[in-house]
Parts: sequence; structure tokens; C-alpha cells
Amino acid sequence: MGLADIEFELNDSERAVCDQAHKFADEVMRPAAAQLDRLSDPADVVARDSVLWSVFARFHDLGFDAIESPDADASPLQAARLRFLVNEELGWGDSGLAISLGVAGFHRFFARLSGRPELIERFCHPASRDIGCWAVTEPDHGSDTLAFDQPHFKDPAIRANCVARKEGAEWVIRGQKSAWVSNGTIATVAALFCTIDPSHGFDGGGVALVPLELDGVSRGKPLDKLGQRALNQGEIFFDDVRIPEEWMVVGKEAYGFVVEQVLAMANAAMGTIFVGTARAALEHALHYAHERIQGGMPIFRHQSVKSRLFKAFMQVEAARALARRVALYNGTHPPLVQYSIASKVFCTQTAFDVASTAVQIFGGNGLSREYPVEKLLRDARASMIEDGCNDLLSIVGAEKLW
Ligand SMILES: Cc1cc2nc3c(=O)[nH]c(=O)nc-3n(C[C@H](O)[C@H](O)[C@H](O)COP(=O)(O)OP(=O)(O)OC[C@H]3O[C@@H](n4cnc5c(N)ncnc54)[C@H](O)[C@@H]3O)c2cc1C
Repeated sequence: MGLADIEFELNDSERAVCDQAHKFADEVMRPAAAQLDRLSDPADVVARDSVLWSVFARFHDLGFDAIESPDADASPLQAARLRFLVNEELGWGDSGLAISLGVAGFHRFFARLSGRPELIERFCHPASRDIGCWAVTEPDHGSDTLAFDQPHFKDPAIRANCVARKEGAEWVIRGQKSAWVSNGTIATVAALFCTIDPSHGFDGGGVALVPLELDGVSRGKPLDKLGQRALNQGEIFFDDVRIPEEWMVVGKEAYGFVVEQVLAMANAAMGTIFVGTARAALEHALHYAHERIQGGMPIFRHQSVKSRLFKAFMQVEAARALARRVALYNGTHPPLVQYSIASKVFCTQTAFDVASTAVQIFGGNGLSREYPVEKLLRDARASMIEDGCNDLLSIVGAEKLW
């Protein structure tokens, strides 16, 4: 096949990691995701005997969750390069699983950010099997929780659904996070974004590390949704949950800045993952176009099919170039959120457009669950809402252009 990775500076060890990630995506993620996608009850996706857990175990064994760990001894540049290579393969394998595995390490970022040895020891221990989540959206608040540069962000009239108050040397957390928290029903620890000073609106927020076995924590049911069905989503409820004051690792002075930085980090990762999804759709379409005979010849021989495939090829390569450039810059400099947003919006839209082209090239078979591309279309559709709706993200990014 004429699809190549023209990243011209890949060294031997990067190539080896890339090959290992591809093998994991092909042999572990794809079969598991196909199985999980077909389960009608999302509770079965996270059941004790689900194949999901072997995906998590293998991912951990391969060390893909430790690329950014200080113990991995990689420079920021090396880590950023490995991360975009691995993310693309994981997104090629299955975007829902890629996000579940990625967000599972979210809490570790905040433990390291705190600089506190006891938190790093507790939450970043290499043997830890903790599963993290990013609990930011709320039943009454979605896009607005991420739009740090919009006027409403500092509006005290906006009432949060999850608030922490200080009592002595503890924070007491009350309220709930939305049914959309990825890994919400399986996480063992949350990076909880909550309001600590309502007089400043969302801007009076904080980020706490909250082990989810604490008294007062309860969960909703796994959410049933279109696309990314291997990715578990669910509410988390906090009924006067007490944590030591040190576990509030970001205070209100830094909250808006941290939302910006985390959005920059998460959106850049989304870009690289959905390049993989787009590439998967293109590969399936190319393969099918050579197999399917219509009018006495493979449909690839029909000129309009060729031109549609070539357009998809250009879209994938353009998305890949942007996603990698942004991931490299933001991994080695203070992140620029407008570039991450551009990567996320462009790459998720590309994944959706290329998956849609693939469905069209498959004809009726494209709509059938017997073939892989309808799943890719659903997965890509979800990505345009996940991590902030693309429309709203574009408005947030535009503020930074001037
Ligand atoms: C697959 C998936 C995974 C997710 N994972 C997580 C997670 O891990 N943690 C978490 O906390 N949340 C998560 N979410 C929630 C996600 O971040 C929100 O769904 C997203 O931010 C949009 O919020 P909303 O659904 O409430 O839509 P709303 O904010 O209600 O938006 C509805 C519509 O209004 C538009 N809109 C809203 N405000 C504006 C505006 N100011 N200007 C123009 N248009 C506007 C939006 O673009 C959209 O079209 C996930 C969502 C999905 C789909």
C-alpha cells in the first residue's frame, strides 16, 4: 500500500515503539473494541469479566502509560515525539479505548504538578493500578466549564453543581459531576475540578485529587451513547466527602490558567488520536475499493472513487502534520491553547469527514455493522463534542488570535 509515514527523522528506538504500539492496536485493541462496541448494555463493557481489563493490563505492561514519567528518562522532546506516535496508533486501534487509557493517567499529572513527595508517592507509584478521570463538566455546565476566556467564566451568578468548602485542615466536597466523565464509573481517583469560591464563578475553582473509595462518593450507571462505546462514561456524586487540604493541588489563583493549560494538553492529544482514526478509515476504504468489483472492475478503477480517496489521503496527511507540529511545540514549550484547539477541531472534523467518505465508498456495506467503517463514523462523531464542542472551542481559540 502506498501509505507511508514520512516523518523523516524517526530513529530506531522510536520506530520500535511505534511498531510495538501498532501491534498492540492491531492485536489487542481492535478485537477488544469490536467486541465491546457490540455490547448493548454499557454496564457489560466494565463488568469484571470484560475484555476491557486485559487491554488495560497489557497497556500497563508495555509501559505506554509511563512515557512522560520522570523515571522514563526521556527529554521533553523525546517524550512528545513518542507520545504523538503512540497516540496515533492507539487512535488507529480504537479511539474510545485510547481515550480511556489516556485519561486513566490524568491524576498523575496533578500529583506531579503539586511537587509534594507524599502525593507523588501515593498517586504516581509505578506499581499503582489506579484509574484516573478528569471530572470537570457538570449536569448544568458543559462547554462553559472549559471556556476560560469567555465573560461568563468570572460571573458569580453562575451556580456550580460541585462545590468544596474549607473546614479546618480539610476540604469538604458536595455535589455532582456530569454523566459524561470518561472512566467515571471505573475510576479509582479523580482529578476533580470544582468550585471553591463561588463569589468568583468558575474562576473561583480548584483542582483536587480525590480517591474515589472515600466515604460519601457514589456513582451513576454507565452511560449509553453513540460511538466510542468502549469508553466508559458516568456521573460521580460527592456527599460531604472530606480530603486533607494538601490534596487540593490547584487553588483559585491559578485555576483559570490551569484550565487553559489542561485544555491545551488534552486537545493536542485528541488531535493525534483522531489522526489515527482518520487513517484507519482511509485504509479500510482503500482496501475495499480494490476488492469490490462493480461494472466489471474494482471500484478503485472508477475515477470519482480514486479522486475521493485521494482527497481523504490529503486530509489525513494535513491533519497529521498539524497534530504532530502542535504536539511537539506544546510538549517542549509553555503550551499555546489556540494551536491545540486547532489540532483538535481540525483532526476530529477530518476523522469524521474521512470516515464519512469511507462509508460512501463501502456503499450499502458501509452502513452494515458487519463492516468496520460505520463504527469509525460513530466514534469520530462523538469526538466533535468530547473535550469541548468544536464550535465552542473555536470561539475560545479565536480569542487568542488577537
Ligand atoms: C465522548 C465524550 C467524552 C467526554 N469526556 C469527559 C470527561 O472525561 N470529563 C468531563 O468532565 N466531561 C467529559 N465530556 C463532556 C464534554 O466535555 C461536554 O459534552 C462538552 O464540553 C459539551 O458540553 P455539553 O454536552 O453540556 O453541551 P453544551 O455545552 O450544552 O452545548 C450544547 C450546544 O451549544 C453550543 N454552545 C454552548 N455554548 C456556546 C457558546 N458560548 N457559543 C456558541 N455555542 C455554544 C455547543 O457548541 C453545542 O453545540 C465528554 C463528552 C463526550 C461526548
